[in-house]
Amino acid sequence: MTGHGHRAVTFMVVGSTTGSPLAAAFSLMGAVLPDSLERVVLWGDRSRYHRRLTHWFIPWLVLTLFCFHHANWSVPSAAALVSGREGTLWGCASFWLMGCLLHILEDACCGTVPLLNPWRASFGIHLFRMAPKAGEMSAGEMAFTLVVVLFSLAAWAKRGITL
Ligand SMILES: [Zn+2]
Repeated sequence: MTGHGHRAVTFMVVGSTTGSPLAAAFSLMGAVLPDSLERVVLWGDRSRYHRRLTHWFIPWLVLTLFCFHHANWSVPSAAALVSGREGTLWGCASFWLMGCLLHILEDACCGTVPLLNPWRASFGIHLFRMAPKAGEMSAGEMAFTLVVVLFSLAAWAKRGITL
């Protein structure tokens, strides 16, 4: 999935399920981290290792649960952040990591990612095809992103915003 698709879907899904713009903003920051790690930090040439170790959900899940535990399983809000409520920064970190987990799930919708073996991308469904040129959205990805964003927008509007 492209970075634009990841950002739009992750921000809207987290925002609509939590009602918190702060949680959505932190998940947005994590929305392309697995690809950024793959490209910038680990390997310059992605072809051989694309969607392998950086797209293995288990370490991201462990880190997310660790942060959620320290956040007392609460959703961070701007009001809690301003008042310095204990655990709010852990909550922000947990949603940042949640963005990484959603990235992997989104990639699994248009290809494969590792399940138990981090060196073998074996889990995923081909819900839509990617555009042949990197960075371009295919018609399928645009439709998928649009449907998720519109449903999330409706759910978020119904739920209201928690500041
Ligand atoms: Zn990816």
